[in-house]
Amino acid sequence: MKVPKTITYNSLVERRIVASAATGPLATEVEADLRKLADKFTASFPFLSSQYAITVLDGDLDEDVDLRRKKCSCRRFALIGLSCEHALAGARDCGISPYTLCSRFYTVEAWLSSYGGSVCTLGNEESWVIPNGIGSMMITPPLVK
Ligand SMILES: [Zn+2]
Repeated sequence: MKVPKTITYNSLVERRIVASAATGPLATEVEADLRKLADKFTASFPFLSSQYAITVLDGDLDEDVDLRRKKCSCRRFALIGLSCEHALAGARDCGISPYTLCSRFYTVEAWLSSYGGSVCTLGNEESWVIPNGIGSMMITPPLVK
């Protein structure tokens, strides 16, 4: 499926087309962000304190990463559910796929399911069948404190 060059994101169908054109396991923008982060620590030297617990040197700070629990002392995992640069460096050195460290909400599958439904239009207002008593009701906005 080919994505139009000028897409306006107006409809579920258009968004579904964009999502289905993703080439990686993660949503396109998330994939790009991870690639940028992965490049940041190409020369780092994580210290393995166990098979999945790592300390990554980041300037003056040492960040502690637990790959099994998806936790890092920088707290990016906890905040947004995506690997931080420290976890990516650790995953690389431990031979773990960085995709296993991301929340499933960032997958293309989740992205597609967001736009998998449909919204039925109401049609022409003149063709609506409105039950007795409903058409004469006055709907007011909710009270706001
Ligand atoms: Zn981190």
